[in-house]
Amino acid sequence: MKTLIVANWKMNPQTLREAKGLFNLVKRGVRNIERAEIVICPPFLYLLNLSRFKRENLNLKSDNLDLKLGAQNIFWEKKGAYTGEISPLMLKDAGCKYVIVGHSERRKYFGETDEIINKKLKAVFEAGLIPILCIGETEEQKNKGETRNVLKKQIKTALKRVSSYKLQVSGFCIAYEPIWAIGSGNSCEPKEAQKIRILIEKIISKIYSPKIAGRIRLLYGGSVNSKNAKSYIKEAGLDGLLVGGASLEPKEFIKVVKNIGT
Ligand code: PEP
Repeated sequence: MKTLIVANWKMNPQTLREAKGLFNLVKRGVRNIERAEIVICPPFLYLLNLSRFKRENLNLKSDNLDLKLGAQNIFWEKKGAYTGEISPLMLKDAGCKYVIVGHSERRKYFGETDEIINKKLKAVFEAGLIPILCIGETEEQKNKGETRNVLKKQIKTALKRVSSYKLQVSGFCIAYEPIWAIGSGNSCEPKEAQKIRILIEKIISKIYSPKIAGRIRLLYGGSVNSKNAKSYIKEAGLDGLLVGGASLEPKEFIKVVKNIGT
């Protein structure tokens, strides 16, 4: 299985021109890297353009390029009077394959609850897109020893009434993103990330089965850079990474991808 590297551009860059430039540099830098599947999650507005741009410029016959597009958010209804929202079918039509659901910034700034995340997750599954569910504890919760319970509740509620079949066939991913590590430069120790990986596997095994737990791809996110990237894959045994800040610096992001192995 390839290592999954997801770039979360958040609300950056400010123009389509810059977005295309960044995308192009990444595309060139990561071609021929066979062991990684790369997913770029730009702001909604750039998705369609980057999707076209990707196809137009894809005549690198001798190159192996596994570069996909993802969205940073979604709304659960298919269509209708929901001003300002984007539906799963629109994302699919724009060339999206993955969708980040429940990022901590959405939980914090936009009031997304585990129940809302459950609705979004089910909509992503139904549309045949691949969800990347973000979970993680705050620093305060960590210091109080609440990590286990926080993650358990986030996973249980997000997956309410999601069938084991969906988890098996969808390519479903869970990204452990401790909130204290996001954008702080204070990344999680690989040993700690390994413990959390085992914990998440146990939680999924209990709700579903060990077989299903083995099928889910587990990622780490939080101040990933080219120096620490490999340790999460090799030492912590994770299946991929969710990269925020470093994904906006093409050289650094390409190094992240290269450092986990070609
Ligand atoms: C993120 O936003 O998901 C993230 C992991 O950010 P950063 O890499 O900047 O910590």
